[in-house]
Amino acid sequence: MHKAREVLKHYFGYEQFREGQLELIEAIGQGQDALGIMPTGAGKSMCFQIPALMLDGITLVISPLISLMTDQVRALNQVGVHAAFLNSSLTAGQYQKALGLARQGRYKIIYVAPERLETRGFLEFALDAKVNISLLAVDEAHCVSQWGQDFRPSYLKILDFLGRLPYRPVVGAYTATATPDVRDDILDILQLQNPKVVTTGFDRKNLFFSVEKPADKYQALLSYLHKKEAQAPGCSGIIYCLTRKKVEELCYRLREEGFSVTRYHAGLSDEERQQNQEDFIYDRRQVMIATNAFGMGIDKSDVRFVVHYNMPKNMESYYQEAGRAGRDGEPSECLLYYEPRDVRTNRFFIDNNEENRELDEQTRKIVQERDRERLRQMSFYCFASTCLREYILNYFGEKRSGYCGNCSNCLTQYEEADIVREAGCILSCIQANGTSYGITMIVDILRGSKSQRLLGKGMDKNPEYGKLSHLSVTRLRQIIQELAMQEYLAISDGDYPVLYPGERAKGFSTDAPLTMKLAKELEEDRAENLPRKRKKKTAAAALSEADNHLFESLRALRREIAQEENVPPYLVFSDKTLADMCVKKPQNREQMLEVSGVGEYKLEKYADRFLAYIHQGKK
Ligand code: ADP
Ligand code: ZN
Repeated sequence: MHKAREVLKHYFGYEQFREGQLELIEAIGQGQDALGIMPTGAGKSMCFQIPALMLDGITLVISPLISLMTDQVRALNQVGVHAAFLNSSLTAGQYQKALGLARQGRYKIIYVAPERLETRGFLEFALDAKVNISLLAVDEAHCVSQWGQDFRPSYLKILDFLGRLPYRPVVGAYTATATPDVRDDILDILQLQNPKVVTTGFDRKNLFFSVEKPADKYQALLSYLHKKEAQAPGCSGIIYCLTRKKVEELCYRLREEGFSVTRYHAGLSDEERQQNQEDFIYDRRQVMIATNAFGMGIDKSDVRFVVHYNMPKNMESYYQEAGRAGRDGEPSECLLYYEPRDVRTNRFFIDNNEENRELDEQTRKIVQERDRERLRQMSFYCFASTCLREYILNYFGEKRSGYCGNCSNCLTQYEEADIVREAGCILSCIQANGTSYGITMIVDILRGSKSQRLLGKGMDKNPEYGKLSHLSVTRLRQIIQELAMQEYLAISDGDYPVLYPGERAKGFSTDAPLTMKLAKELEEDRAENLPRKRKKKTAAAALSEADNHLFESLRALRREIAQEENVPPYLVFSDKTLADMCVKKPQNREQMLEVSGVGEYKLEKYADRFLAYIHQGKK
């Protein structure tokens, strides 16, 4: 299979296959059905695009979302492959025209929405004697399964469609969903014949995972964004919030701070959502602030960070959303800010889920119980003191243990600490007050603050006043959060959350130790230490200062080209490719071909302009 590698190099400009790719490509090439189960960003598209370029006939790709199709077709056109899509975004006239061209054999690869398969116009095309479909590739194949979250009834039509053809093309199915139920459904429903099944690990090695419990989330986010701005100016990121209101609020505040942000949630008009999404994809806005309505089918491969400003409802959602970072394989960060209140908000969503209304009483109970259990597992993730990656992979059924060196827990040293004395002081401080106060006030009392706000209210009379003055604000807040987690304390909802005794407060006793794992270093030190300790850097971040300069100017050129051609910048060249150019500094076209991500077609199209910049940069 020398040919597959040639195709990879010629069109896509890559040297090597990634895990699982070649096996899947070879199977298809030999006429064997295939099922590829690989995580997001692993490079599934290549597994059917490369065979498509090697086979005689046409490859049909079934894809559930218009945005996915658009993105992939654009990416293919960018590397000189004739591809098209047939879906409802085309007018009747455009659709007919595309079908006509398809019939003439103009397209090697055609993306089609499953709903189209059964329509007369499409069937006429598919059954045309001159048309030869070599490969039917089912992308996002988990959509055939009712077990998954993304079930699409129209995917069930794929088998009927196959039955109508006078011959049977090779069938390949691809998904990132690994559960056995879903896999079996795919095999059964699509009736794959003696398929080659390849499952690669679910680990996304390039993603750094971190959980933080900042006392002030907004401040933490601000300093994170400032840090990113310094490290990688202009890099893209997504911030997920649980509610529309939070999205609005953050968007407003961050815009006031001068950040380039946009927003996305179900409360906006279709036009605005479309516009904002494009602004993000085309790098006109750097940071997308969104609810979980955003992201399905977003293929932007250079998202450098995903911050969950609130804890999502379960690990499935979390890994999917966080997984939108770093699809290009470059190091990227996934941060989660935990706050006990998020648990309650999620519980509220579970108890009031509109979709469950239609279910009968018993089923609803089962579904709610399942959702609550998933929520519990999600909060356990936030309190794990062992490797976060290990927790994630174990959750998804991949046994793994130990140290990954690329998550916040692996980079933090913990110690078991007995906090029973502190807990006693905190509880008594709250109970002595009579009225409820927020965390800040409680912390101030315990630390013996002399502020007027506090003295004016006579808070220095509180029996616990100053009793914990030896603790830092951060440490004290950590303990309070831990007590809330363990339900000794409760924190109210609302704009001014107040602390009051939790369900277990009555049973609290100072006789037995109460332990928690406390990070040895404080939050502040840790935040500073992370970048130094972290093993991996993006290709761009690893550049020297001079090269960095060049990198920025190549990015500017990329933007200019993207604008001229009206495609997202990452489809011109990825950051990784630009960084590789800065390192290799090609002097001619031949050397340019050595750069990862530069294939023949892009070479023709862009090499001269980039070479000119590199030449200037060297002077
Ligand atoms: P998936 O569909 O599995 O989420 P994609 O097919 O979108 O992943 O690929 C993710 C990214 O990885 C794309 O930018 C793609 O160009 C890149 N990629 C795929 N295969 C390779 C490879 N063999 N070498 C380098 N980059 C690759
Ligand atoms: Zn780890």
